[in-house]
Amino acid sequence: MTDGPDYRAPVHRVPLLNELDEGQDCCHIVEEDDFDWETVPEALRRTEPPPIPSIAEPTVVRHYVRLSQMNFGVDTGMYPLGSCTMKYNPKVCEELAGSPHVQRLHPLQPEGTVQGILRILYELQEMLAEIGGCHEVTLQPAAGAHGEFLGMRLVRAHFDALGEERSQVLLPDTSHGTNPASAVMAGYEVLEVPSKDGTVDLDALEGAVSDRTAAFMLTNPNTLGIFEQDVLEIARILHDQGALLYYDGANLNAIMGRVRPGDMNYDIVHFNLHKTFSTPHGGGGPGSGPVGVSKELARFLPVPMVAREEDVYYLDYERPDSVGKLMGFLGNVGVLLKAYAYIKLMGSDGLRSAAEISVLNSNYLAHRLKGTYPMPHRELRKHEFVLSGTPLKEHGLRTLDVAKRLMDYGFHPPTVYFPLIVEEALMIEPTETESKKELDAFADALLSIAEEASTDPETLRSAPHNTAVRRVDEVYGARNPVYCWQDLAADE
Ligand SMILES: *Cc1c(COP(=O)(O)O)cnc(C)c1O
Repeated sequence: MTDGPDYRAPVHRVPLLNELDEGQDCCHIVEEDDFDWETVPEALRRTEPPPIPSIAEPTVVRHYVRLSQMNFGVDTGMYPLGSCTMKYNPKVCEELAGSPHVQRLHPLQPEGTVQGILRILYELQEMLAEIGGCHEVTLQPAAGAHGEFLGMRLVRAHFDALGEERSQVLLPDTSHGTNPASAVMAGYEVLEVPSKDGTVDLDALEGAVSDRTAAFMLTNPNTLGIFEQDVLEIARILHDQGALLYYDGANLNAIMGRVRPGDMNYDIVHFNLHKTFSTPHGGGGPGSGPVGVSKELARFLPVPMVAREEDVYYLDYERPDSVGKLMGFLGNVGVLLKAYAYIKLMGSDGLRSAAEISVLNSNYLAHRLKGTYPMPHRELRKHEFVLSGTPLKEHGLRTLDVAKRLMDYGFHPPTVYFPLIVEEALMIEPTETESKKELDAFADALLSIAEEASTDPETLRSAPHNTAVRRVDEVYGARNPVYCWQDLAADE
């Protein structure tokens, strides 16, 4: 047990850039004398300089470095945000994606001049199809939710082609919030299927499926970190009614190399490359949510697909049944490159062992913590597990207070209050990239906090104390959003 937290985040007062304006004299702008302005269309030429502050380079650099020091990321410390797979991302993947050989490519270059990147994208399509057990994969979607939306469009295309009208999408009560949102955006009505002891209640599912059911969206392992062992039976129930099974593969971390969604008889799969396959994320992007499908649905995939004929790679638009285009050009190629580099770096054995270690780490932590924070439902978990903060209630405290106090110990809080079926939920996903020492420090911190709850509840209630930003008023924040500096100025 530690003697309390020793983490301290730097606290700077960082003025806004426009408050740092030093006037035109501060900086010397390099004029490119030999630049031929005639090459820029007249309508695109500026007549006035842009209204941005003039600040010398060192001031700008210090501004951003200080901001970054007050931030917390996976390079600062453990970030066990359940469902988000915040693993450490190898820097070599960043380096490759930042290489001028790819950075300076333009998506409108003739195909003959970009054979290298087309080959990488083609091979990534093939590798993901292999990992997912799919017939074909598109790389276009820009995020998991975008992939889900495409998935629902594919479902609709499938039933349109059959001339069937189906209006409902089913979801378990553990589903991620993007699932109902995507289904509704694609025009479906959403029906919730309850769980029984943490997995889909088969009787309830059987009762809910009908000839109006288009699809069932199911993540496996589910958001409690429990593997849906009846998945083949679930697939049978759906398929017997002519409906499709959709795999929310945002979290492939527990199963890659061990079991494939295609072999679980799923029809459509999305992958979150920015979770499982290495890309730092959070703060809204960029992401990538490729979608894989069974042979039957492949003809509906968006155009273009990256295709190959002998040694030549090209963009295939000749897909008459395609749902069309989903995204500019080929998707977020930088993220795709990182995933490609990561998969090549790990190899199939490496991916499998990452999955195994992520499950081991999760079960080790669960084992250390569940005596203090109860873990509802069954014991064995996959890559993540969900505890409950209900014992703190007797001290007038909540899970939110535990989450805030963890920041004082130098850990990013886990996901809280999700999934909704666990009261005062704490959803923890350590990932495979944390060492046993780090896992132990995290467990020690959570156990210390449980002790503090009885000895010093006020410290928890007012936490965090050691971070750059103290406890924020979340209700005020949600009701009074400040999106940019003009809003801030108006607010003052
Ligand atoms: C993260 C996540 C999503 C959504 O992915 P985004 O890239 O954030 O849109 C969907 N389902 C699950 C289970 C997730 O964890």
